[in-house]
Amino acid sequence: MAYVALYRKFRPQKFEDMVGQEYITKTLKNQLINSRVAHAYLFSGGRGSGKTTTAKILARAVNCLNPINGEPCNECEICKHALEGTLTDISEIDAASNNGVDNIRDIREEVEFIPTNAKYRVYIIDEVHMLSTGAFNALLKTLEEPPKHVIFILATTEPQKLPITILSRCQRFDFKRISIEDIVRRLKIICAESNIEIEESALKIIAKMSDGAMRDAISILERCISSGTDKVTEEQIKEIVGIPEIEYLLEVTESLVTNNAEKALMESEKVINAGKDLDVFIWELVKFVRDLVMLQVSTDLVIYKDEELAKMQDLLKKANKDKLLELIAELSKLQSDMKWATDKEVIFETGLIRLAYQKVLMQPMTNVIQEKANTAPQASAVVSAEDKVKQDVLTTLKESHKMIMHTILSNSDIQKVEDDLVHIIFSKTLDEMNKQYMQKDESKVLIKEVMKKVFGKDMRIKYVF
Ligand SMILES: [Zn+2]
Repeated sequence: MAYVALYRKFRPQKFEDMVGQEYITKTLKNQLINSRVAHAYLFSGGRGSGKTTTAKILARAVNCLNPINGEPCNECEICKHALEGTLTDISEIDAASNNGVDNIRDIREEVEFIPTNAKYRVYIIDEVHMLSTGAFNALLKTLEEPPKHVIFILATTEPQKLPITILSRCQRFDFKRISIEDIVRRLKIICAESNIEIEESALKIIAKMSDGAMRDAISILERCISSGTDKVTEEQIKEIVGIPEIEYLLEVTESLVTNNAEKALMESEKVINAGKDLDVFIWELVKFVRDLVMLQVSTDLVIYKDEELAKMQDLLKKANKDKLLELIAELSKLQSDMKWATDKEVIFETGLIRLAYQKVLMQPMTNVIQEKANTAPQASAVVSAEDKVKQDVLTTLKESHKMIMHTILSNSDIQKVEDDLVHIIFSKTLDEMNKQYMQKDESKVLIKEVMKKVFGKDMRIKYVF
């Protein structure tokens, strides 16, 4: 099947084609019918919720030569030029790339002139919160007394960043996230009109993945059909968007909610070895834990099959419910830590092990860091030599994939106190399970090996708790 730009092709051309924003489109249509159009609008809402599409329809509707019941006809000369993007009276400005005061000054000069062809000059300013302070002030002057023939439509994902002076001069519409049902309904229409065969369960997954953004939903659909198949299946979608099979999610989550660090290590290695995209996996893990929490109160989780829901129910029986809630927050934090990290695998693995160790009402990591910071001055005289030893030890552990030991030792101090004697001073927050782990024979053998590598000879090791 040839690649089709579905998003452009199926961008709604009329208010009635818009999905999930009925209140807004109805209000706007009424304004148009009653000739009570405002001079400044603010459209706020998440990505892909329909702000820009609505702005474009509104810009045509106010100028259309033959409007029908508040809708643009999309056939008259004005509508046609607007649709082609050649009507100079409608300007679209992306504030993210034109945030300067000069751009707004240009607008201020321009608005004094009457429109060339249309009835109104319409300025659609996208991501308006990105404007500089100077540009906001310039815009404000225009908004204070807008000429009768000018309409501003400001769109933003972050209305809280706008000056109150701007907010107070606009008629505001808040676009809500589009529901899964609405997205599925729209995707069905698109598929039917494009002769795309697709499984119902696949549509639900796309809708769920898109997080209320129609644009994202359509772009996932596009990726699936451009991969060249006759029928889009659930499996394909999962492969293309990289949804990890639920088994991985179940096992990893189980290791975390049952405080089984060794299992956490094993499972995270499985995920890494399977070549999963770790950013996607951690994102999916956050969603999965959130869904587990939801499952306690509702069974309406369309993304999962019945047998998967049954497995999730089993897991819930074993899970510490309080820990589930904490995990959502902790995993989201881990997700953002990983985002910019170059060594994602290490952050991922150590992160999961750490979470598995943490008991409910866990000690926040910041406390550990704080504690280390407090003890730092005493050791400052020898800090560089010690830090180097510790870094070498941690690097050696990381290279040999001994991540539990790595996690414990990165919260401990390693000091060479005599020529052949090393002290490992453990953090006060080290819990019983970690203590036991360190006392195991194989742990002691491992430590000796690592120290031998770092110091080039056999060392005596003393634990200081
Ligand atoms: Zn028209």
